[in-house]
Amino acid sequence: MRLAAILVQHGLLDAASDPATIQRVRMDAIAIEQAQRMRRLSLAAGLPAEPAMPLDSGDYAELTACTDIEVVAYAHSLRVRAERWLGHVPVGWTLPSLCRGCGPVWLWLGAPSIVLACPWCWNRKDGRPIPRPP
Ligand SMILES: [Zn+2]
Repeated sequence: MRLAAILVQHGLLDAASDPATIQRVRMDAIAIEQAQRMRRLSLAAGLPAEPAMPLDSGDYAELTACTDIEVVAYAHSLRVRAERWLGHVPVGWTLPSLCRGCGPVWLWLGAPSIVLACPWCWNRKDGRPIPRPP
């Protein structure tokens, strides 16, 4: 049975709803399903259940094309991005490097020791804090 028919059957959607409304309801259902998937996979990977940054239904809907490993990587990248935004060094970023734009910065192990630009450049451009290596 199609989603719209199920929603109409349970009184959650008017049978006369326009196609745009039906499509929005369908996208919301997909987003809820993907949000639950991200929560379950994040907890299994040792990450907090909730994403570090707010996601909209479109963000969640795009996760349908991702594998479980990609969803966990996305959740982890949101956490790293949120930490950087607050001016905190993300876990594992223990390599002192030199950014041509920012100066001395912390990067992840395996990153070059000198870079033309870095993830901290976003903080510099937005006037946000950049933690510095000693
Ligand atoms: Zn930089």
